[in-house]
Amino acid sequence: MSEILTTDREAVRAHSQVDPEVPWQQAMRRAIRDSETLCQRLGLPNSLAGDAAGRAFPTFVPLEFLQRIKPGDARDPLLRQVLAAPKETEVIDGFGTDPLAESTATASAGLLQKYAGRALLVTTGACAVHCRYCFRRHFPYETVPKGRAAWEPTLKRLAADQSIREVLLSGGDPLTLVDASLAELFAGLHEIAHLRRIRIHTRLPIVIPQRITEPLLRILTQARATVWMVVHCNHAAELDAATLRSLGRMVDAGIPVLNQAVLLRGVNDSVAALEELCERLIDHRVQPYYLHQLDRVAGAAHFEVPETAGEALIAELRQRLPGYAVPTYVREVPGEASKTPVVETHDSSR
Ligand SMILES: *Cc1c(COP(=O)(O)O)cnc(C)c1O
Ligand code: SF4
Repeated sequence: MSEILTTDREAVRAHSQVDPEVPWQQAMRRAIRDSETLCQRLGLPNSLAGDAAGRAFPTFVPLEFLQRIKPGDARDPLLRQVLAAPKETEVIDGFGTDPLAESTATASAGLLQKYAGRALLVTTGACAVHCRYCFRRHFPYETVPKGRAAWEPTLKRLAADQSIREVLLSGGDPLTLVDASLAELFAGLHEIAHLRRIRIHTRLPIVIPQRITEPLLRILTQARATVWMVVHCNHAAELDAATLRSLGRMVDAGIPVLNQAVLLRGVNDSVAALEELCERLIDHRVQPYYLHQLDRVAGAAHFEVPETAGEALIAELRQRLPGYAVPTYVREVPGEASKTPVVETHDSSR
């Protein structure tokens, strides 16, 4: 039984004591799974949370992420990403359960193919954090294959299609798979001679940085295919020392690391926030790749930033940062052959 916290100061002290040495799976097990506890640990009133929202898509926040949230600040940009808000249950026109029409792009269970040369494997439904804006929050994960045998039909399909040169491991978060499962999947992919690259889309190195272990790095660096890592970080405050160390270990191991972010109201919809995020990423050898316009998924409408505002933010970043630090601002349009750049119509009066 933990102590009852009587003052905010004590709450803050308990809050900052997170043992960084626990293995990542234990970090997953001890994650906060309800908004009452989340609010209590941050010295915030329960009334900030929406109960129905939390039931529809449960709270999941590891302590490693919690400790980067400022206690007592209901407007903290990290808190907004993870706290189930009452607004999520509002029904808003244009926001649906399958905004990217993924159900029509599903080639076989767990395999999505929308773009030439690339196929996306939904490897698992599990994530290391539940992001409230997630576009796959309504995805039918129960159809995702589990284990090597279940992956066979998908691997066969990939093997039969010479045009696929890159496989994206996505989810959920593929790094929630234990090393043995990942190694098995890599071994299966290894047998497909025309596969040249494996790309991993993951938020784990950001959320639970101790996931980047030596055994994992060995799986990634010993793959026959070139491995690219795309992490997902939306705000510079997510980049604490442990996270930067883990990103650095991947880069040191020779793995190119890119970042994608989602433009989110109240999180990173300011020049200052985006500039700090991009600059800290390049300081640490991680290249900003995409800034995504929010996918219009039911429950996430309150995160939407108008595209004109997004365009203006990107135009301003271009004035301030090196070219390689400015992410490509894209939206996903169902049926298009690639992500669609949101083009700057913003006239800088020249
Ligand atoms: C976003 C996405 C990709 C990757 O697109 P890139 O522009 O290459 O990053 C591939 N497949 C699917 C289904 C996607 O949604
Ligand atoms: S980690 Fe990615 S897939 Fe998982 S909840 Fe967050 S945005 Fe969605």
